[in-house]
Amino acid sequence: MSTPKDAPIFDPVAFRLERREAEIIDKARQFGARVLAPRAAKHDREATFPIENFRDMHPEGLLGICVPERDGGQGASFRTYCLAAAELGRYCGATALSWNMHVCSTLWTGALADDLEMSAEDRNAHNGRRSKHYKRIVGEGAIYSQPFSEGGAAAAGAAAFGTEAKPVDGGFLVSGKKIFASLSGAADYYGILCTERSEGDAASRKNTLYLAVPAKAEGVSVVGDWDPLGMRGTVSRTLLLKDVFVAEDEMLMPRGVYFRAATSWPHMFLTLSPTYMGLAQAAYDFTVSYLRGELPGTPPVKRRMFPTKQIAVAEMRIMLEQTKALWFQAVSEARAEPTKEQVLRAYAAQFTVMENANALAAKAIRTCGGQAMLKNLPLERVYRDSRCGSLMLPWTAEICLDRIGKEALYEAGETDA
Ligand SMILES: Cc1cc2nc3c(=O)[nH]c(=O)nc-3n(C[C@H](O)[C@H](O)[C@H](O)COP(=O)(O)OP(=O)(O)OC[C@H]3O[C@@H](n4cnc5c(N)ncnc54)[C@H](O)[C@@H]3O)c2cc1C
Repeated sequence: MSTPKDAPIFDPVAFRLERREAEIIDKARQFGARVLAPRAAKHDREATFPIENFRDMHPEGLLGICVPERDGGQGASFRTYCLAAAELGRYCGATALSWNMHVCSTLWTGALADDLEMSAEDRNAHNGRRSKHYKRIVGEGAIYSQPFSEGGAAAAGAAAFGTEAKPVDGGFLVSGKKIFASLSGAADYYGILCTERSEGDAASRKNTLYLAVPAKAEGVSVVGDWDPLGMRGTVSRTLLLKDVFVAEDEMLMPRGVYFRAATSWPHMFLTLSPTYMGLAQAAYDFTVSYLRGELPGTPPVKRRMFPTKQIAVAEMRIMLEQTKALWFQAVSEARAEPTKEQVLRAYAAQFTVMENANALAAKAIRTCGGQAMLKNLPLERVYRDSRCGSLMLPWTAEICLDRIGKEALYEAGETDA
């Protein structure tokens, strides 16, 4: 019997998923196939943001997937979110990647922040503020984004953010520039990372603030165009902030907590990978379906009888299984204060997913042949979208390699002097 094209990427029984977890992921899979897939080509071709996908996510509860249940959300865990996002990624990479920016605004302030040390006063204030953000999302369908990148070393975690927040009465005056700001022009709130700095202070990563800047605030503008190779529907244009007043209530984390999260909950940066896990699966699914002569929109020509194609599919299957196994382990063990082994595995999982998604797509094109890469079929989009994965800061493929090599050979504080 053939495997249905859209069987779950992670079979709930084989991967021992919890019942509620499997239900949430299944809902995402069905939403992806029904709603995202038919719209993906148009947004890719036109480089337009799929706002209607986000509007349709609202009644499905997908905007609040990681909002705690007591705040009206689905209370999905880190792993549940990752598996659900992979299911969306297989149908529309750009939607899944920009949905990731939105969801992380709730996951990081929710389940992840619950794991971090905070004073009772900070915890209280944080719980009050995040409820307000969650209410906007669950009640009104508000969309959040995460423009962190500035073009320098800050998004790589190696320097303080150049975007700065000057404390003023009741809040902050924020100025700076964010590049590759997915959802720019579409989000209702931009979740900005910036450095809190008063006159005369030195900039420090420890003073990183995570603020929700209302898109309509005075001083916010979106500039430049967006005409990239892949992930065209993310519409990641440049965001400029000039003396934007942001009320203290818009803090997404209390002072000092983002820095603590980045150091003690490192798997938070693995959240860019689920989209690409989905794209890896999409490349494989396409190949099997195409070679069997069953791909909708193509003539029923079978190509599966050639031994070279069978070997290529076998190699793809092995690469996909390796990718899934490592990634599933890494997303399952995400937690505060992970062991060194778990962190090395997380880097390895990120590297593997990001590199293998594109390797699988490239192999799919070679194996299926010329007609398979025509623009009326999704494979060439999967190929272009998947090429973007290893560029995503702070865990680019290069940075993962750097860290694995260094951290495997040196214990903390060790030198050769
Ligand atoms: C489709 C797409 C969507 C994106 N959406 C978002 C988004 O919503 N929000 C967001 O914040 N970002 C987003 N990004 C941005 C992404 O994370 C990168 O910042 C972006 O690709 C631009 O990077 P760059 O060319 O400046 O990177 P690079 O030049 O690769 O890196 C920038 C800096 O990081 C440091 N660095 C890079 N590599 C190393 C290394 N090996 N060792 C040490 N330091 C290093 C260096 O200081 C370097 O100058 C997106 C990217 C893509 C492709």
